[in-house]
Amino acid sequence: MDALSSRMVRGLRAVRLGLLWAAGGCMAWGCALACEGPQHVHLLHPVALSAAEQAEFRAMAPLRVLAVDAPPMARYDRERNRYAGIGVDVWCFIAAELGLRYEILPDRDMTVADKIRQVQQGRADVFLPLSQQPDRARLGLFTLPYYASYYAIIARTGRRLQVHGLDDLAPYRVGVVKGVALEPRLQAALPASRLTSFDQANSNGMFQALLDGALDVAVFNKSIFDEKRYAYDYFDLEVIHTLRDDPREYSFYFSPTPEHRRLVEVFNRYLGAIDASESVAQHEKGDRQLIERYVAQRSQRTLLQVASVAAVLMMLVFGLAFLRYRRLARLLAQSNRQILEQQQALREANEQLARLSLCDELTGLANRRAFGQALQREHARRQRTGAPLSMLVIDVDHFKCVNDHYGHATGDDYLRSVAQVLSQAAGRAADLAARHGGEEFACLLPDTPAADALALAERIRMAAAGLALPNALAAAGRLTVSIGVATLEAGPATAQDLLAEADAQLYAAKRAGRDCVRAAVVRA
Ligand code: GH3
Ligand code: MG
Ligand code: MG
Repeated sequence: MDALSSRMVRGLRAVRLGLLWAAGGCMAWGCALACEGPQHVHLLHPVALSAAEQAEFRAMAPLRVLAVDAPPMARYDRERNRYAGIGVDVWCFIAAELGLRYEILPDRDMTVADKIRQVQQGRADVFLPLSQQPDRARLGLFTLPYYASYYAIIARTGRRLQVHGLDDLAPYRVGVVKGVALEPRLQAALPASRLTSFDQANSNGMFQALLDGALDVAVFNKSIFDEKRYAYDYFDLEVIHTLRDDPREYSFYFSPTPEHRRLVEVFNRYLGAIDASESVAQHEKGDRQLIERYVAQRSQRTLLQVASVAAVLMMLVFGLAFLRYRRLARLLAQSNRQILEQQQALREANEQLARLSLCDELTGLANRRAFGQALQREHARRQRTGAPLSMLVIDVDHFKCVNDHYGHATGDDYLRSVAQVLSQAAGRAADLAARHGGEEFACLLPDTPAADALALAERIRMAAAGLALPNALAAAGRLTVSIGVATLEAGPATAQDLLAEADAQLYAAKRAGRDCVRAAVVRA
């Protein structure tokens, strides 16, 4: 048969196997037995199968299959919940050829011994793969072996131990998994104190003991160690010797029923005729697949770690930035508050200063400066409106005598009393009474014609006299005032002119004997 037609035949067979698999496998417990690789197995020569046998196997109840995670014979893929491996390929191939139906029992973390017991007790029909050992032969039915794997001696990387076989192990502390085929030989070769046995479920403990230096070497299945090396990062451990003289042969293990006896007999016919080398190559090149898988997992892990570290760092940076922002915002608010408080205090101080700078301390009236400003302002307004503007200058008569006779404090009291008279008299909102200096006062009377100003002056004079404050040296024997009145009614006269005229009228009043009023209209 040429290469092309041989490939076609193989392809057709793969399709047929797939169909049979779909029809026959995966029954009650859900399928976990992958049959992706039976096309890697083919017959070297035809196998004779009688019609009666064919009928019997097709009619058989589905076989309950147990498997163990032991690559490359069977590797359990947790993510896909399926098995793959040489034993699986071979099983699928022969089962399909025979038209067997089967189902895989889920892997419930049972030990190999548990699984053997399941087959012995008839709770499972087949176990794949299982190595033949003399003491196992009586436990059930074994087919011919279809694969051999090897044990290896494993040590920490870089330790140059002179080990070329089991006989060289005597000087070392050796670890082994309980119940393996080599255990009796190791027990014979080593003093009991040098051999440590680990439970099957605890092979990782054995590797850890190697890494920790509690053991010098471990004896373990080479293929499974290759897997573990990548799965658990055991790169500080290495195979220092492969025990090629002690191959471990794997068979299918059936429960001992007459039906299974016939099945084993036919299986053996197939196992004698198959070529599984392609499957072996496929699953033994595990190293490359392992590396790829390891690198992928590693990069995923690294990516995840980098992402987590970056996330933590970012959170830290954001957290610190937030704290800093909050602290700055607090400081800013605090300093804003302080600035506002200071501004408020400053405003109040300024207002106070302004008040003081325009106020006479003794009498509480406007001072000379405030009067000057008001005079300028009202004069300017008069220029615009043409309304009459009057002012009075009031001087206490013989005031010097008050101080001399009654004392300075009484003089002050008199001045405050006169101030009160003025405040009441010049009571319109626009009027302004001021202390002009010493015992001299002034009143500014906007919108006030000469006659009204004169009348107001008279009222003031009389009110001052009405205070009846004694002044022994004055002619009337009591306090009196003289008043000069000036009015701007028209023309360009200045504020200065108005002031000068009021002063002149005051002088005239003094000359006229005091306690009187003199008035004039300013004519420029
Ligand atoms: P005349 O009738 O001519 O105005 O005589 P007079 O004594 O009032 O005039 P004079 O200008 O000679 O005296 C004013 C006095 O007023 C002098 C000063 O001691 C007194 N005096 C000025 N300011 C104050 C003050 O704030 N308190 C007191 N008690 N006396 C003052
Ligand atoms: Mg005076
Ligand atoms: Mg006076």
